[in-house]
Amino acid sequence: MIPYGKQQISIEDIDRVITVLKSPWLTQGPNVSQFEKAISTYVNCQYGVAVNSATSALHIACLALGVQAGDTVWTSPNTFVASANCARYCGANVDFIDIDINTGNICLRSLEKQLIIAEKEQRLPKVIIPVHFAGQSCDMSTLWKLSKEYNFKIIEDASHALGGEYLNKKVGCCQFSDITVFSFHPVKMITTGEGGMALTNSECLYNKLKLFGNHGITKDPQMMKKTVEEPWYYEQQCLGYNYRLADINAALGLSQLKYLDEWVNARNSIAQQYIKAFKGKVEMLEETKCSLSSFHLFVIKVPVDKRLAIFKGLKKAGIGAQVHYIPVYNQPDFTDDYNPCPNVELYYKQCISIPIYPSLDNETQTFIINKVLELIN
Ligand SMILES: *Cc1c(COP(=O)(O)O)cnc(C)c1O
Repeated sequence: MIPYGKQQISIEDIDRVITVLKSPWLTQGPNVSQFEKAISTYVNCQYGVAVNSATSALHIACLALGVQAGDTVWTSPNTFVASANCARYCGANVDFIDIDINTGNICLRSLEKQLIIAEKEQRLPKVIIPVHFAGQSCDMSTLWKLSKEYNFKIIEDASHALGGEYLNKKVGCCQFSDITVFSFHPVKMITTGEGGMALTNSECLYNKLKLFGNHGITKDPQMMKKTVEEPWYYEQQCLGYNYRLADINAALGLSQLKYLDEWVNARNSIAQQYIKAFKGKVEMLEETKCSLSSFHLFVIKVPVDKRLAIFKGLKKAGIGAQVHYIPVYNQPDFTDDYNPCPNVELYYKQCISIPIYPSLDNETQTFIINKVLELIN
C-alpha cells in the first residue's frame, strides 16, 4: 500500500540515536536543549519547550495562558481532536469556527461574526487555536488584529506546518501569536518518534511552559519562592505533568532537522505536479498568496456522491488515501451544542487526502494521478 504520508530515516539519524543510547543520558540530556535551540533558531522565535507530543504541547500552552473551568476556547472543526481536547483537559468549554471551504482553514469572516455575537452575550473566548491545515498558514495578521480588539490569546496549532512560511517568515516565529505548537509524529514534517514543541517570544510564558511540562518543578534558584541553602533543593510550584521529551527522541529530531528544507521543497514539487495534472479536472484546495505551504497533506475535493467509491477504488489500487478530518464536534465524546459549521460539513463530504511525502517518486505519482482521473470520470 502506498501510504498517504511517511517518515524517512537515514543511517545518520540512526547513528545519532545510537550515540545517545551509549551515553549516560537517555532523558534530559544535552540533545533536548539543543533540539529546542535548533527549532527556535530555524523559525526565528525566542524560546522552545520540547515535550513528548504536540498534544502535550497544546495542553501546557493552554495552562500557560491560564485556561481553566469557565473559560471558552475556540478552534477549527477541521482538525485532529487534540486541538480541542487541550482546552477540555483544563476544564474549559470548546466551540468551533467554520472553515473557508477553499482552504480548509478557519474563516476569518465567520470568526468576526461569532466574536460580535459572543461579545454581546458576554462569552468571548479566552484563547483561539487556529490550525494551519495541510501546512498552509491561516490569515494570522487579521486574526492578530481581532485578538487585540476582542482580547483573546492565540495558540497556533502548526502541527502540519513546520517549514512553511507566512508573509515571508517561518511559521512558528510567533509574530502574530502567543504560542506556536509543532508535532514530530512520524507522518508530520520531521519526526522524533513521538514528540512536540511549544514556542513563544515571551519569557514569562516560556517559564510557565517549562514548569507545566515538568511536574511544576523548578531547580533554578532564581525562580524559587523559598530561599533554601540545601544544594539538593527543588521546588514544585504548580500542578504540572511529566511531558518531557527523552534525549533519544530529541537526538532523532536534531538529525532530521537538517533535511527539513529539502523535504519542504520536495513536497512542494510533488504538489505542483498534482496541481498541473488535476487543473480543470479535479477540485483542490486553494493556495493563498501570503503563505508557502509545507504540504503536509494534499487534499482533493470530489463529488459528494462519488467520494466513497473513489476512496475504495484508490484503496483497491493500493493507494492509501485518507480523510482529513471528520469534523471534531461529530465525535460522540463531544456532546455540547456547538456553533453550526455548514462549510466544514460540506468539505468533509468531499475531501480525500492522496499520498504526499518527500520520497514519493515520479512513477508512483503518475500512477496515483491516473488512478484518480480514471475514478473521478
Ligand atoms: C498530529 C496533530 C496533533 C497531535 O500531534 P501529536 O504529536 O500526535 O500529539 C495535533 N493537531 C494537529 C492538527 C495534528 O495534525
